[in-house]
Amino acid sequence: MTPISANLQAVHARIDAAAKAAGRDPVSVSLLAVSKTWPADSVRAAAAAGQRAFGENYVQEGCEKAGVLAGLGLDWHFIGPLQSNKTRPVAEAFDWVHSVDRLKIAERLSAQRPTEMPPLNICLQVNVSGEASKSGCTPAAAPALAHAVAALPRLRLRGLMCIPEPTDDVAAQRRSFHELHRIYERLQHEGLPLDVLSMGMSHDIEAAIAEGATLVRVGTAIFGERNKP
Ligand SMILES: *Cc1c(COP(=O)(O)O)cnc(C)c1O
Repeated sequence: MTPISANLQAVHARIDAAAKAAGRDPVSVSLLAVSKTWPADSVRAAAAAGQRAFGENYVQEGCEKAGVLAGLGLDWHFIGPLQSNKTRPVAEAFDWVHSVDRLKIAERLSAQRPTEMPPLNICLQVNVSGEASKSGCTPAAAPALAHAVAALPRLRLRGLMCIPEPTDDVAAQRRSFHELHRIYERLQHEGLPLDVLSMGMSHDIEAAIAEGATLVRVGTAIFGERNKP
């Protein structure tokens, strides 16, 4: 067994245990393998072990990998900060974008999504309390943004995403994830057919699953430590 397939097995075991502890069906939590900074061969190894969905943070790197590996039938998720002048390659190469935090980006993605492709799946990134990154709309702005994005023709709004400040304090992890879940439920009650709550990374998937994550984004625990630039 390659290290990547052993790591994938270990991550699936963590997901299963966390789901069961929360009284949830493990199949209600899907795994996005975050392959940023890792070469196409690492993605191939994960794909050979059965992993289908991959997350990338950088436009050029992600588009190159998606192109090289186009024959494998993988799903590509863009999860990094997105500038408005870089939306076109993302609209053309990815299946999902998790990091939409303003209407201008969504409008460009919708306008640039090729008509022969299915609508681009979208999660809004929300800056829940304590979030370290500057990205993400405020919780107060999320409902209006969600309804506006849901109305765009070439996008399909699927849910919400957050990147809380890294902390070992499980109660603090859960507070952030709980806040995102509340916004998600509010939008569902307002009639938006959301089905994806994208939260939890290598160090906090247990807290995220306890608070209702339907998709966890895991890099380090699958591929190993990334080289810091
Ligand atoms: C890098 C990254 C991840 C994965 O982080 P790990 O700690 O390596 O699991 C998840 N989500 C986003 C948005 C990222 O940028």
